[in-house]
Amino acid sequence: MTSSLRTVTVLGTGVLGSQIAFQAAYSGWKVTAYDIDDAAVAAAGKRLDALSQTYATELTGATGNAAAARASIIVTSDLAHAVTDADIVIEAVPEVLDLKRELYGRLAPLLPEHTVLATNSSTFLPSDLVTFTGRPDRFLALHFANQIWKFNTAEIMGTPATDPAVFDQVVEFAGDIGMVAIPIQKEKPGYVLNSLLVPLLNAAGELAAFGYAEPHDIDEVWRIGTGAPFGPFQIYDIIGLTTPYNILAHGDDKDRAIAAWLKENYIDHGKLGLATGEGFYRYPAPDPGEPADA
Ligand code: NAD
Repeated sequence: MTSSLRTVTVLGTGVLGSQIAFQAAYSGWKVTAYDIDDAAVAAAGKRLDALSQTYATELTGATGNAAAARASIIVTSDLAHAVTDADIVIEAVPEVLDLKRELYGRLAPLLPEHTVLATNSSTFLPSDLVTFTGRPDRFLALHFANQIWKFNTAEIMGTPATDPAVFDQVVEFAGDIGMVAIPIQKEKPGYVLNSLLVPLLNAAGELAAFGYAEPHDIDEVWRIGTGAPFGPFQIYDIIGLTTPYNILAHGDDKDRAIAAWLKENYIDHGKLGLATGEGFYRYPAPDPGEPADA
């Protein structure tokens, strides 16, 4: 461990917060996780137990100890207690701007002076939040991907006010907890990953929704033509169809038509992707996936 950021607090213990907490603990960091109330703390316990199983099964041969990591994580609904000792606080609460701003307002007076604050927000820029932090020089985005233990990129993106030394500290921290750290040189909605991925998924959705080609044929073209392991509809299934649906449903006329197609043909039939056993493909399926309509 070379990072100067040695104690980690994660705010929000949902899908991503629990994974970030677990990954840091698994990498040997002292981790505290905060959520709003007793029910959320209990749910966090279940998520962390499940992650412990996942790490133990999927990372065989790795040096970390999943059970020890699980046991080391403190979960609390006391915000002041959660951050009292934090070198870095990583916020992973719901993607609602006012909710994040309100939390930052309560957090600012509680944070030790040296603490770095990072948001895991997927769609907001750190500039949307910076004025609520009380520490513009020590605030930035640190964006993880879902299933952090195998999709291990961490995109780091500051505001014009972020101290370059803090930026570098966070790049180092991300590497030390097992991530491939990707520095983003200026603010960009979607970082690198979603700047590339969202247009690909939308273009694939347009081809299928407007009847140009079948999803599994589109995937095949992409895999053969580029050498990529997954086609766009396999990626839809991995992400889960609801998130792209929610983004498209707020877009222009074409986006909304694609959203309606996703809803009517898949979501309304419970075909939400890998997590529900069926989306564009059925799971478990032989590589590269059996078309659901086969
Ligand atoms: P989620 O809904 O699964 O979890 C949110 C958690 O925050 C819940 O445990 C909830 O109880 C808690 N919470 C609600 N209000 C809170 C508050 N005021 N203070 C503290 N905790 C509070 O959400 P998620 O999918 O984990 O997303 C969290 C953040 O991570 C978002 O900013 C999202 O953009 C980002 N993100 C999500 C993904 C993903 O694939 N889900 C990927 C990358 C980044």
